[in-house]
Amino acid sequence: MKSNLQNERISWPHSAAMQNVQHVVYWMQQAQRAEMNHALNMAVDIANDLHATLDVVFVLTGSVPEANLRHYRFMLEGLAETAEHITDQGMPFHFLAGDPVKSILALTGNSTLVVTDRGYLNWQRNWRCQLEQSLPPGFFCEVESDVIVPVQTASEKEEYAAATIRGKLLRQLENFLKPAPVHNYTLKRGMNLPAPADLAILSYRKGMDPGQLNDFAHRHLVFDSSVVPVKAFTGGISEANKLLETFLDKRLRLYSEQRNDPAAEIQSGLSPYLHFGQISSLDIALRALEHCGVPVYAAPELIRAKSGLPPEQAGLAAFLEELIVRRELSCNFCFYNEEYDNYQCVPMWARKTLNDHLGDPRPYIYSLEELETARTVDPYWNAAQTEMVKTGKMHNYMRMYWGKKIIEWSPDPETAYEVMLYLNNKYSLDGRDPNSYAGIAWCFGKHDRPWQSRAIFGSVRYMNSHGLRRKFDMQGYLQKIAGFS
Ligand SMILES: Cc1cc2nc3c(=O)[nH]c(=O)nc-3n(C[C@H](O)[C@H](O)[C@H](O)COP(=O)(O)OP(=O)(O)OC[C@H]3O[C@@H](n4cnc5c(N)ncnc54)[C@H](O)[C@@H]3O)c2cc1C
Repeated sequence: MKSNLQNERISWPHSAAMQNVQHVVYWMQQAQRAEMNHALNMAVDIANDLHATLDVVFVLTGSVPEANLRHYRFMLEGLAETAEHITDQGMPFHFLAGDPVKSILALTGNSTLVVTDRGYLNWQRNWRCQLEQSLPPGFFCEVESDVIVPVQTASEKEEYAAATIRGKLLRQLENFLKPAPVHNYTLKRGMNLPAPADLAILSYRKGMDPGQLNDFAHRHLVFDSSVVPVKAFTGGISEANKLLETFLDKRLRLYSEQRNDPAAEIQSGLSPYLHFGQISSLDIALRALEHCGVPVYAAPELIRAKSGLPPEQAGLAAFLEELIVRRELSCNFCFYNEEYDNYQCVPMWARKTLNDHLGDPRPYIYSLEELETARTVDPYWNAAQTEMVKTGKMHNYMRMYWGKKIIEWSPDPETAYEVMLYLNNKYSLDGRDPNSYAGIAWCFGKHDRPWQSRAIFGSVRYMNSHGLRRKFDMQGYLQKIAGFS
């Protein structure tokens, strides 16, 4: 079987049974897109090679941890558009509802090969592991498409910080900063579905009213509806493309200097789309480089350069540092540290220093309810919490400040950790992402170094409101947030 994909992206331990394959199912899970999707391309290549049928399947499930109506609405908006693009290319697209592993197994017989994309969180890995173990050897193929440098190629261990992974990523970058090769699916038909009668299935038809997908999801799944959808973001690749284009045209040149200012709208706003795999970081990086006329081979040097660049190149360098180095450090963290979602992932030095300061007086301790409803003494913190609740996203700099304050206002770091994860993942559209876990762990010292010791925090980095006022137009930020209905 020949594919133009880089081998490092593919995990397919046994391939001896290929001649028996009559059907290929691409189980779309993390990479919820038709474009720049290596797993989809692999499924197409295999189906073409073997003259096998190909079906693309997405399983809607209520068992994704912490997902609520806000997340589902955004995801379904994106999936409706993805399904349209996939059917446009002659591939049948089906929505199933239920347990992903059982649903996929219900579709597959002894002659069906399952191709899927890769996710780094424990529950994503468990699903894939269960499915692989339930299929005959060689009938499960996983293809990595949501990072630029495959996680295990970038590093074979958990990295200490951005400084230790940066060189490793940049050395490999040129090999992987290449568009995913696209071939058309030639047979243009799927297997004979609908399959078993007890399987909830909606086969997408071109031009289908998105309301039908919503009805299907609501009929078969029980959502946590306590968190309402937001107006600030609409899911889907077209919206992601619009945001990206505006960002490149208008804001990239300001990114290096102003991205930390919470009053200025300089960040790209792409994290919800990246989280649901509606756009790929590879696509974003290639388009950003092209926009600035920078060849791929020059990208590593540009990212390494810290100063002396003209504004647009400085913006590009800073943006690629976040999109590639910081984002892929988060994936490294979740992949190699299975405690990524609890306080045990915090480094020993940081836990020790926080513990040494457990007895320090805490001027304020807020309950979860007071925090959730933004009723603290600090107007900037309240505004940040309100921004997240109302828009589904919080500015990066305010996220750091928000997290540090929760540590200060909690009885102990373990409680602070739980509260932070709960609020971040409940309200953020980009929540429940490797970046969520790495960002929260960072507040407690992960991927950071010891600083001068002080009350409550010990030598974990501390932030205060004087710093915010000194650096930024915080009145402007308060006014911006007050304007959100
Ligand atoms: C306490 C805390 C919680 C966080 N929770 C999340 C979360 O739930 N989901 C999430 O995606 N990010 C989270 N982050 C990281 C960061 O705040 C967001 O990635 C960023 O604000 C997303 O906005 P953007 O897409 O407009 O960013 P841009 O500045 O436009 O950056 C483009 C992309 O680069 C990546 N990126 C940017 N900053 C970081 C960073 N610091 N670490 C890792 N990757 C980065 C993201 O994929 C982002 O979409 C958190 C950070 C902290 C400190």
